[in-house]
Amino acid sequence: MNNNKNLLKKLSVGAIALGAGFISLNSLENLPSENKNDLIVEGYISKIPGDKLSDSFYKNEKQTLLESVESKIEKFYDDNFDIDVSFSNPSELNKESLGKNNVAINYMTMKNMLENPREVLYSFGGQELIDELETEIKKAQKVEGWNYETAEKIIFDTVKEGFYESFSGEGGFGSEIAHRAWVFPSKIYERKAENNDELANAYAFTMCHELGHIFGLEHTNGKNNFMNPHLRLEDILDFNFEMNSFQVKKIRDYLNKD
Ligand SMILES: [Zn+2]
Repeated sequence: MNNNKNLLKKLSVGAIALGAGFISLNSLENLPSENKNDLIVEGYISKIPGDKLSDSFYKNEKQTLLESVESKIEKFYDDNFDIDVSFSNPSELNKESLGKNNVAINYMTMKNMLENPREVLYSFGGQELIDELETEIKKAQKVEGWNYETAEKIIFDTVKEGFYESFSGEGGFGSEIAHRAWVFPSKIYERKAENNDELANAYAFTMCHELGHIFGLEHTNGKNNFMNPHLRLEDILDFNFEMNSFQVKKIRDYLNKD
């Protein structure tokens, strides 16, 4: 079972690496507005019984919670980017269209996300990690005498455990490789938010943060910075956070690179 442990270790390191980088804060001037890059954000929201955000989409009420989240994300980014955010049903998800400027947010339970561990692994380490997975499966087959399906299942179970450990209590994660972010319902947000506006703030914060990861940003310890993973809950509920000019420049560089 050593092979599985190594993979888990790799995964956990990968997960932690997302949170380990700190960048310094520089003051740079914003570029003129005519140089704004396009950002197209497609959101896919799964039906999650009893979840307020999911309900607001599927009940199709006029001023839904989700619409409020949508406009808050747009407002946060549109000082510096031409951003368009829209949410639809996961059945409309078009994976092929995703790229640097066109990214997706999946709002679903972590359990649903883990139904396809290969996709999750890809989003963490790209093809390299998928190749490594195949090697580990083959090794396990050889050493333990398992067939492919058994070896794959046992390794996937370990991967899932690793993800639960790394992300339990977190709002989600974003992947630069897959151009996708996964966002999960948060019991803490639902419990602590005093009204729908605060709840929308909290989810919009998580989505803004995970989008930051897609666009190549790492965590920062900057007070009230949207990429600070230890932002106070009060600030999240109040939508009291910001993007610094260094981050604006980093996102621009990411979007402009070939
Ligand atoms: Zn993060």
